[in-house]
Amino acid sequence: MSTILINLQAVQQQIIHAAQIAGRSPHEIQLLAVSKTFNAEAVLEAGKAGQTAFGENYLQEALDKMAEVRRLSPELALEWHFIGPIQSNKTRLIAQNFSWAHAVDRLKIAERLSEQRPDNLPPLNICLQINISEQETKSGVPINQAAQLAQQIAALPNVRLRGLMAIPEPAQTLEQQRTPYQQIKTLQEQLNQQGLALDTLSMGMSADLEAAILEGSTMVRIGSAIFGKRNYA
Ligand SMILES: *Cc1c(COP(=O)(O)O)cnc(C)c1O
Repeated sequence: MSTILINLQAVQQQIIHAAQIAGRSPHEIQLLAVSKTFNAEAVLEAGKAGQTAFGENYLQEALDKMAEVRRLSPELALEWHFIGPIQSNKTRLIAQNFSWAHAVDRLKIAERLSEQRPDNLPPLNICLQINISEQETKSGVPINQAAQLAQQIAALPNVRLRGLMAIPEPAQTLEQQRTPYQQIKTLQEQLNQQGLALDTLSMGMSADLEAAILEGSTMVRIGSAIFGKRNYA
């Protein structure tokens, strides 16, 4: 068996194990395979093993890879998620080519995605990225501005606000990893009490998947644990 398949199965087992500890059904937790920096062949290997959802951060790389995957394996139906930060000049191609955008943190970007979503596609699924560590450098909307932005985005016609996404600071212990995810979960509950219907928490990467699942993640975004170490050269 190839390394990618072995890794994929190990990650699936980790999800099942964490769900058991959390007292949750593993079916509540979707695995998003983050294929940035890896090629179309790597995507196909995972795809042919049944993995359907893939996450990408860099638009041009993603579009080239998607075309190559379609060329090599036209029968394979994959779902593509844009998980990187979104600049205004990238919104049209994201609206045309992806099913989800996970890192939306400004109304202007959401408005453009809604305007530019082609009529023949279902609404683009959106997660609001929350700046959980209140860092200057990190993207994401601060927690205290999330409710207003969420209500504004939920009113747009061609996007569907599905939930919240966060990338916390790396932390060492399981308890430290859980704290920010717990805040995101609480925010989701508050927003739903205010009338929103958020069903998605996009939380957890290779290093903190268990903590995220313990706090209610419904979608873990896993790259290196499946595809190996990234080489940005
Ligand atoms: C790269 C990336 C991931 C995957 O990270 P790993 O540590 O390789 O699992 C998840 N989410 C986002 C937003 C990323 O940019």
